[in-house]
Amino acid sequence: MTDPTAKTSGFSHYSEWLEFDRKHLWHPYTSVNNALPCYAFDSADGCIIHLASGEHLVDGMSSWWCAIHGYNHPRLNEATIEQVQRNAHIMFGGLTHEPAVELSQRLLSMGPSNLDAVFLADSGSVSVEVAIKMAAQYFQAKGKPGKHRLLALRNGYHGDTAGAMAVCDPVTGMHSLFAKLLPEHVFAPQPRCRFGDEWDPSDFSEMRRLLRQHHKELCAVILEPIVQGAGGIWFYHPQYLCELRAVCDELEILLIYDEIATGFGRTGKLFAWEWAQAAPDIMTVGKALTGGYMTLAATLATADVAETIGSSGPLMHGPTFMGNPLACAVANASLTLLSDNKWPQQVAAVSTQMQRGLRPFIQYKCVRDVRVLGAIGAVELDRDVDVAAAQKIFVANGAWIRPFGKLIYLMPPFIASNEQIATLCAAIEAYLRTID
Ligand code: PMP
Repeated sequence: MTDPTAKTSGFSHYSEWLEFDRKHLWHPYTSVNNALPCYAFDSADGCIIHLASGEHLVDGMSSWWCAIHGYNHPRLNEATIEQVQRNAHIMFGGLTHEPAVELSQRLLSMGPSNLDAVFLADSGSVSVEVAIKMAAQYFQAKGKPGKHRLLALRNGYHGDTAGAMAVCDPVTGMHSLFAKLLPEHVFAPQPRCRFGDEWDPSDFSEMRRLLRQHHKELCAVILEPIVQGAGGIWFYHPQYLCELRAVCDELEILLIYDEIATGFGRTGKLFAWEWAQAAPDIMTVGKALTGGYMTLAATLATADVAETIGSSGPLMHGPTFMGNPLACAVANASLTLLSDNKWPQQVAAVSTQMQRGLRPFIQYKCVRDVRVLGAIGAVELDRDVDVAAAQKIFVANGAWIRPFGKLIYLMPPFIASNEQIATLCAAIEAYLRTID
């Protein structure tokens, strides 16, 4: 009889485990019946992804906004190894440790100066759940339990857990599929006044009207500051946040910024809210927090939020892996790398090179818009991208790029060289030529 706990792999060639994957594993947003092709990953160094098939690809995605310093980074490796040799995990209930305290101290010193308390969460979505709970508990503690709904933006994205999904765009967030599961929140139109354009005050009118109409039932507004990520890589005017801050203050509504994608330098500021200088009451961070090494996120709140909740009882959340020391240690190492302060020049260089490489694509008939902010570049087409066909061409041209909807976008590690950005842009052009 075979031992069911024995190592079953015994794969003699990567094509065998790739085949097992195809039959048995879900990947993000895929059907097991009709999955998009997956490429077999072997390893990654710096900005280069090595496939098991032997190809070497320039990484245009930073593993979805995370690997800002590149892969297999000696200082991040060192911090991880050092911590794992000391201790990988310990419960955070009743015990605390230096990596978590140091990380919280760093986050509070980097974030808006009005934020004072930190909740360490295990993923971006969870940090959003915690932010929503904070807002609801805050008004319960104030004796205003009627203020329990949120206002969010169309085309916004905040994660895949139920609470987070309920504040994602109602269409792309699949609210109809989970209608009975999700609370009904209020949605304002996507801001249309672009980053870099002259401010158009009418862009805020509908948001103002909705806030005035619903303020008695609203505990918070949640939005991604400046850049809507998964909802369309859309960059909007900083003045929108200034207007929003003023009306939230006037109507006693908390302001939550989801900086999970935008945080840690990606937009050209350490955090995107800095473009507006209108600070939030609650802020979530994640993704690049550990430099892409491990899952970790955090929810930061003002002393008023923390103490008001505290006055009525505990904040009701406590994940098993809260404050995981290994994740905190590598996050501290990643933030130390950021504090070397090379990132502003790196992001500016990536930005300039993407402007140069992507802007000319506006000449293609199939291209509707090209936009670049910081180390984020997007080419919007007039049609949905055929992801499988496009990726085949990207891989053949030495690039790792994962489009979605009508968007082909780049967010390479900050260390990407001019030559590497040029490779990414050339791969995109190779695909555009096949469809134009
Ligand atoms: N908020 C934003 C703005 C995001 O981009 C994401 C992830 N794409 C999340 C929340 C959810 O984070 P996670 O995938 O770590 O749960």
